[in-house]
Amino acid sequence: MEQPDTVSKEEYNDTHIALLQFLISVQCIDKTDLLVVYKQLHRASQLHALKQARASLEDGDFDAEELHSETSRQEDRDSNEQDDSEITLGELSLVISKINSQLKPLYLTVVESVDQDDDTRTHVILVNTKSSDSIKLTTSYTDKEIEIINKLIDEMFENPIRNGQLQYSIERYVAINIVKAQLGSLSEANDFLNKLVSSLWIELYNGKFTLGTRALVELKQFLYSKYEEKSKLTPNGTISKCAGCGEITTRGLSCSDRNCYVRFHKKCIELFATGHQTTICPNEECEVPLKSMEVFY
Ligand SMILES: [Zn+2]
Ligand SMILES: [Zn+2]
Repeated sequence: MEQPDTVSKEEYNDTHIALLQFLISVQCIDKTDLLVVYKQLHRASQLHALKQARASLEDGDFDAEELHSETSRQEDRDSNEQDDSEITLGELSLVISKINSQLKPLYLTVVESVDQDDDTRTHVILVNTKSSDSIKLTTSYTDKEIEIINKLIDEMFENPIRNGQLQYSIERYVAINIVKAQLGSLSEANDFLNKLVSSLWIELYNGKFTLGTRALVELKQFLYSKYEEKSKLTPNGTISKCAGCGEITTRGLSCSDRNCYVRFHKKCIELFATGHQTTICPNEECEVPLKSMEVFY
């Protein structure tokens, strides 16, 4: 008997399409939750195939050779069914890359992004890859709503040193006022902010609004081109990049030397210290100990 195919070797099939349709509807999901969905889809497609095979067998409308091969395929499916509880997150990544190979011509891609705070958590996000300097192309919002989103992002990133502290989050009332100025009423402003939260464009962190997981991934290029990374060569940039993982960080630890550009995610600093065998800030013009970095959000 042939060895049953593993999930990772499967060709692009109905299960991939169903998973993509699911991703289009949710846009952003925890990878462990997506694995549960994938297992259900995988199992459903196998049961469907099995039912079809059994129906054909009962019809008895094919010859002995076909019967034999159909039965062995059925056995393959049976053993695959037992496998599906063992589908791993790693195999799900292979499924995602198979989906991505089909998405390329559509300027869409499914991105896996590790959570800013918790490196055991990965978000899976469907994003637009058409590089652009505006948000317009990447969302389905109206022009007016995009203008509001732009204003909120400006408030967060244009001048992130507020009241003498680095902060990318904005007070609730500030956000409400920005939205209210455009939409008119307080209830409309609250509804719109709730909509942005539920679609993961913004999120509440310690009672303040900050850019959401999905926006950080989808708007990465936009943010870098509009505000520029803060670095040794570009000290006026306002985007903080983690010295550990290289991703944008909107909360974490910042060097206590005001002139220093070094920032870390909280989850990344320890790994950096052990990996580089160091206890001081990686900026060679700075000697601040890593342990006296300051919390920002
Ligand atoms: Zn990091
Ligand atoms: Zn420093």
